[in-house]
Amino acid sequence: MKHYRKELWFNVPTRRAFINITSQVEECLRESGIKEGLLLCNAMHITASVFINDDESGLHHDYEKWLEHLAPHEPVSQYLHNRTGEDNGDAHLKRQVMGREVVVAITDGKLDFGTWERIFYGEFDGRRKKRVLVKIIGE
Ligand code: ZN
Repeated sequence: MKHYRKELWFNVPTRRAFINITSQVEECLRESGIKEGLLLCNAMHITASVFINDDESGLHHDYEKWLEHLAPHEPVSQYLHNRTGEDNGDAHLKRQVMGREVVVAITDGKLDFGTWERIFYGEFDGRRKKRVLVKIIGE
């Protein structure tokens, strides 16, 4: 069995963003040379997500509005977590809702997606360097 590991780095200039990372993950798959197996992709930070959905800007605005409704950033004093001196209590909650990781089947050297599935990095407390792990196993 072959295995492959890579860290992708992001430094998002805004507090929140959704970034399509599908092509970067596909590049990892090419580098790995694995044709049949499983690919795991996860955020390595507790205020960021990796998830699969549609690459459609209206949907991304809907996510932003929905998440801000569920866990508004302001006022930062509403979160007990922020008593630590941080201001990212909302970002931890947003990450929980949007998830930590995705697992994708690899078939014939490709990500075995449904028609509209793409992989996204969700940032909820940006403006600093963060990592995403890509791990691939198979043959
Ligand atoms: Zn925190």
